[in-house]
Amino acid sequence: MTPPPAGAGAWDFGAELRALDAAQLRRQRRVIDAYDGPRLRIDGRDMLAFCSNDYLGLAQHPALVQAAREAAARWGTGATASPVLCGHSRAHEDLERELAAFVGLPRALYFYAGFPANAGLVPALAGRGDAVFSDALNHACLIDGARLSRAEVQVYAHRDVDDLARRLQACRARRRLITTDAVFSMDGTIAPLRELLELAERFDALLLVDDAHGFGVLGPGGAGSAAAFGLRSPRLLYMATLGKAAGVAGAFVAGADDAVEFLMQRTRSYIFATAAPAMIAETLRASLRVIAEESWRRERLRELVRMVREHDRWPAAWRLGDSETPVQPVVLGSNEAALDAMRRLWEQGLWVPAIRPPTVPAGSARLRLSLSAAHQPGDLRRLLLAVDGIAA
Ligand SMILES: *Cc1c(COP(=O)(O)O)cnc(C)c1O
Repeated sequence: MTPPPAGAGAWDFGAELRALDAAQLRRQRRVIDAYDGPRLRIDGRDMLAFCSNDYLGLAQHPALVQAAREAAARWGTGATASPVLCGHSRAHEDLERELAAFVGLPRALYFYAGFPANAGLVPALAGRGDAVFSDALNHACLIDGARLSRAEVQVYAHRDVDDLARRLQACRARRRLITTDAVFSMDGTIAPLRELLELAERFDALLLVDDAHGFGVLGPGGAGSAAAFGLRSPRLLYMATLGKAAGVAGAFVAGADDAVEFLMQRTRSYIFATAAPAMIAETLRASLRVIAEESWRRERLRELVRMVREHDRWPAAWRLGDSETPVQPVVLGSNEAALDAMRRLWEQGLWVPAIRPPTVPAGSARLRLSLSAAHQPGDLRRLLLAVDGIAA
């Protein structure tokens, strides 16, 4: 069969791509040939990167690499089927128990990735006739989960508990689910989790927290944002991902026993997906031990965050975000300005990606500095000096 002619009728992909180019929204994927912590060889160039979510610098940790090697030798590489069809490995069983203990909640359920976890959890919790309340800056997978749920979706203003309270008060839905990022991925801001949980209690609602950027980083021993706020309630469902600070892959949801058992029964992205390899579970078990033991990594992060906050020579048109976390946004406004700054840093061997819509609201294109315990303070000084050079 001959393929249809390019640019046919409703399927003119070429025109779609040209429109992305014109709006400076075309994304480019660079090819990484080698990693050494934040030092990458990309497209043949040695770069110092500030774009990874490997906040604790664990993605190449020798203890994790060793655990992966041993587990591959013992278990092989594949998991063969859905965990509810064929069974899940002893490694996953142990990991789930350790994850629950790590975050101080009764039970945990492991997923192969964070996006499908939230895209499945929200529809498992809410359906037609229910309502989902979603922070305006929530991650795409919470948004898509809400859309899939067929529940009424109410978007409340970013971190605005008064707006949320008014909406809950006025809502007649049978069940009400509040969803929020704990640390917002493109702003680094922290959700008012204590107030959100109070609203959940007051309005007979449930709170689903996505801690992709807080797990391992915030809270005692890296136990995450909910632990940092000391939250305990059967109305709390805590979800976090394991491909960022934990340095491996996957995600989990934790909460009350019955709630987690219900989610295992009803989450389609859990039931109809192949389990993750046991190798991944064993590597994550090693990661949990390192996260708890090597607290210097969290101290290093705090030091780096302080250095960014105390830097006072940002170009006049750049606005540093209001973040106490390793996600440090510098908002430039237009796509063009953000891309231009990105290119000028790239020329100096510094890889700081520009984030554009639809990842962030229109007119708030930014550089997103992502700090890692694998950065030396000298690495960050090099970046800040380069920024001064752009300003001059
Ligand atoms: C990265 C991220 C996810 C997705 O997790 P993956 O494991 O990468 O699929 C979900 N929520 C937030 C807030 C994230 O930043």
